[in-house]
Amino acid sequence: MRFICMECGCEASGSGQALYRCECGGLLDTVLDDRGLDADRLKRLFDVRLSERNTPLSGGVWRYKELIHPELPMDSIVTKNEGNTGLYEHADLREYAGTRRLWLKAQSENPSGSFKDNGMTVAVSHGLWLGYSRFACTSTGNTSSSMAMYAALAGAEAVVYLPDQGVSLSKVLQTEAYGAQLVRIEGGYDAGIRYLEEHAEAMRLYVCNSLNPLRIEGQKSIAFELAHQLDWRMPDWIVLPGGALSNAAAMGKGLDELKRIGLIASVPRIAIVQAEGAAPFHRMLLNRESSLRPVDQPATIASALHIGNPPNWPKALRYAIERARGVTVSVSDRDILEAKARIDRSGIGCEPASAAALAGLRRLVADGTIHPEETAACLLTGHLLKDPEAIALSLSLWKDSKQTVQPAPRPLEPD
Ligand SMILES: *Cc1c(COP(=O)(O)O)cnc(C)c1O
Ligand SMILES: [Zn+2]
Repeated sequence: MRFICMECGCEASGSGQALYRCECGGLLDTVLDDRGLDADRLKRLFDVRLSERNTPLSGGVWRYKELIHPELPMDSIVTKNEGNTGLYEHADLREYAGTRRLWLKAQSENPSGSFKDNGMTVAVSHGLWLGYSRFACTSTGNTSSSMAMYAALAGAEAVVYLPDQGVSLSKVLQTEAYGAQLVRIEGGYDAGIRYLEEHAEAMRLYVCNSLNPLRIEGQKSIAFELAHQLDWRMPDWIVLPGGALSNAAAMGKGLDELKRIGLIASVPRIAIVQAEGAAPFHRMLLNRESSLRPVDQPATIASALHIGNPPNWPKALRYAIERARGVTVSVSDRDILEAKARIDRSGIGCEPASAAALAGLRRLVADGTIHPEETAACLLTGHLLKDPEAIALSLSLWKDSKQTVQPAPRPLEPD
């Protein structure tokens, strides 16, 4: 696997060593060697693996190993058959969004309850291959749950640097339940990232945050599985929430590779939805600025979007905006909760951050960016049960909006 710096273009080398950034500070990107990859042969291979059982290659990430981490030895793989998630349509949600067709790709159905598993299985497997036995991250909750789960599965240690702001209690409990050691840090997610970048190597910790390029490689599988489920015919738009912007970068990169290999005919456009109180990337593009100005005090109900300084913005810019002709939009917490109530009532369900995708799609249709005759897929990134407090909020909002007072039910007489 080759790692190229996105800033200076030089190749970072260091087999057997974790690589996160170039010496110049730039993000590292991997380059897929697509020589010898034939679209028809790959399609047949991926189809065959759909019917296999109990091999890492039957899961929704490693099924696409040739496009993710070709040289990783099979015995380094730690997997819970992540991916393999549902793709749903629902008439109410389609009407709400306003597009001709709408699919919801439920990454919430992953084993730890969020799309982080798609990338984490690859990062932890790669770290084990390099010889690490301690894994670390900072997290608003889902990254740490996922990392702690895979570390436990591999019999390795997990250390989580926990921000004292913007994390969800139930996600922290999930992380602790998988046996991770929690270290409190002052400040938010952004402070945690800074701390790990400085100190991880000295403690021989393998960093599993999304500045680790292997996370992005794994998350590309969401694009691959979506394309596979749609028989390699993509919708016009893919809409996803943006926090650290790893998901957006991975989606753009995955689509770019699918197109390059000839697995899809054209690259769908990407729409990145940020929460109004944590929308530095949206603001950067809106103001046509050339670099990102962090938001000092991010504020949103969507804990997974509680990020003021998204580390992956250069990658999202290259892959989601430039290569996938992407757009950005921001939505209010109220929009998010309203969309969440709709998604929950459709029987699909999600946590608030995921609902931002639907809220953003609705806004983009309303403002004419997306045409009603176009088709779209929203990525649902996290599970309904991830954030119980938000359920209560969105339910009360939903009931208020209906403005109906339900009479108290009379107890039934047994007869
Ligand atoms: C991590 C996460 C996001 C944000 O994804 P990024 O890659 O950080 O932009 C959105 N929703 C959920 C549920 C998440 O866990
Ligand atoms: Zn560099």
